Amino acid sequence: MNNQKIEKTFSYLEKLFPNAEPELKFSTPFECLVAVILSAQCTDKRVNVVTKELFKKYNTPKDFASLSQEELEKLIFTLGFYHNKAKNIISMSKQLLKEYGGELPKSSSELKKLAGVGEKTANVVASIVFNENVMGVDTHIFRVLNRIGLVNQNTPEKTGQEFSKKYPNYLNHDAHFRLVLFGRYVCKARNPGCENCELKNFCKYYKEVKNVCR
Ligand code: SF4
Repeated sequence: MNNQKIEKTFSYLEKLFPNAEPELKFSTPFECLVAVILSAQCTDKRVNVVTKELFKKYNTPKDFASLSQEELEKLIFTLGFYHNKAKNIISMSKQLLKEYGGELPKSSSELKKLAGVGEKTANVVASIVFNENVMGVDTHIFRVLNRIGLVNQNTPEKTGQEFSKKYPNYLNHDAHFRLVLFGRYVCKARNPGCENCELKNFCKYYKEVKNVCR
């Protein structure tokens, strides 16, 4: 049944979002990493507004390593958690210069060794820019996969592990972006659009909610 579920889920998501692309704007792998770090607890749209100007002046590890904490904070303060984000971006840039010759490592396991880069950020970047078969589970993907019942986990990390084990053929960036868009615009945290959703026939959450309402 799970094979049918996953096939039906992704053929529906493909129909809804045929040209799935990241909403974050970037033009190099390093810019992608900075944008993903900035996007924590913030919308991609707001990040894009800031990075549009930021990346015109600063877009390499050397540029960011030369900034003081206060200077970077002033440039990103509208994005929330700017103190930690600035600290992490500067430390990560210095580490890239010192240990990686200023180049972004090309695997999730190496990216995770960078200052302030956790499992989700590393997997998102590795999947988007290096086509690595990993799933960066954000809040949307966590909610959607568990609601449908494709996995049954209580943390994003465990969700990613179960998904990777059960559905290795769906570890790609198209799947990633489609799940994010579906969570953002259809299967929203509050008021998911269940009535028009073609997954409701087998969605675990929908069955549970329907049973409670009876
Ligand atoms: S039926 Fe509702 S809860 Fe289930 S996937 Fe669709 S929108 Fe999400």
